[in-house]
Amino acid sequence: MLIKNITLIDENYDVIKDTNILIEENTIIYIGKEIPKYYHGEVYDGKNKVASPGFFNTHCHVPMTLLRGYGEGLPLDRWLSEKIWPFEKLLTNEDCYYGSLLGIAEMIKSGVVSFNDMYFNLEGISKAVFESGIKANLSYGYADIEGRKDYFNGPAYKETKALNEYIESINSDRIKADVSIHAVYSSSEESVSKISEYCNSRGMNMHIHLSETELEVAECKKRFGLTPAEYFLNCGTFRSNTTAAHCVYLEGDDFSILKENNVSIAHCPSSNLKLGSGIAPLKTMMEHGINVTIGTDGAASNNNLNMLEEVNLAALLHKGTNKDPLFLNSKEMMKISSLNGAKAQGRFNSGVIKVGNRADIVIYDFDKPHMQPIHDVLANILYSAEANDICLSIIDGKIVYKDGVFTNIDIEKVYYNVNRIKNEKLKIINK
Ligand SMILES: [Zn+2]
Repeated sequence: MLIKNITLIDENYDVIKDTNILIEENTIIYIGKEIPKYYHGEVYDGKNKVASPGFFNTHCHVPMTLLRGYGEGLPLDRWLSEKIWPFEKLLTNEDCYYGSLLGIAEMIKSGVVSFNDMYFNLEGISKAVFESGIKANLSYGYADIEGRKDYFNGPAYKETKALNEYIESINSDRIKADVSIHAVYSSSEESVSKISEYCNSRGMNMHIHLSETELEVAECKKRFGLTPAEYFLNCGTFRSNTTAAHCVYLEGDDFSILKENNVSIAHCPSSNLKLGSGIAPLKTMMEHGINVTIGTDGAASNNNLNMLEEVNLAALLHKGTNKDPLFLNSKEMMKISSLNGAKAQGRFNSGVIKVGNRADIVIYDFDKPHMQPIHDVLANILYSAEANDICLSIIDGKIVYKDGVFTNIDIEKVYYNVNRIKNEKLKIINK
């Protein structure tokens, strides 16, 4: 496929006007002013459009779209124990398949090409990922619950193993199987150490929640005399390539521990604000050189998976709290939401648009009142654009979304099924 005569955000986040991008199978094979004479295939006209690297949503629980807006107006502990957990207990693989398709549609529509997920029913989630065309690092969020304290005899290990087998069978690296420990407070030290060792021995990525609330940190200190970051370091968790979500309450040596162990942080500003958790110290993280990325978290605590909105919020929030309009400039913000996320996922051939990389390209239509005139392309994307301005999304060389239509998702069928599932579960819960 040839994208002709387009404005491009290149690998240094510089803007190149009137250029051409040639894609062969899943890879970008040429970028340049001349249209390759040998090419006679499909052509996309890029006039008044901008080709941008796709976003990497590094923290999500995608089937939780099924719980969007459920149990609003309750304090966190009651919201979890009275609403979220009883609903989640009823979810099947088929339910998670439809919930995931809904979330994936929402993500693709807002410029996401890949996401990190932590949930259960990985069979349903991975089927949705594979069919939709998006990329994802999927993991089972392990916790010592319901007496299942032996990782290797429980569903987390079983589902992770099955996911690895599925990935082999589809022969695609769009899906990766990661390992996940839900959080410090939901597992024993023995479990955390055992799972960390397994993850490291297999060379898999690790995904955790870390220091999300003040209470979590206070209880960890009481239990172990350590901060959650020190605790996971001691358990060997950070020997694997780790993404730690939230990190709102990092302190003291936590920053250098995360930096030295190459831990990436998934900053989830909407979720942290909506759940009243607080505001993560992004400036200190970045001063320590930590790989900061952006995540939406699940739709139950956000309440959407609109990555463009999340990136916009992060940029505004930290300029405001730091009283520094120069903090997180446009190039930095684009890098945090694309390349840094690809690195966190261990996808080193993605994250920027350059020859040799996977063709993960999101195209914005600038022919809109709020996108004109164009002084600064990046600023228009970060501060003026709406998800509806995305007119084409290419992942691994394939068009997954064009002019409001999903190539591989029957969105009406998804709407029908998520509402059917919602009604069925509520009927059981309210019986
Ligand atoms: Zn989360």
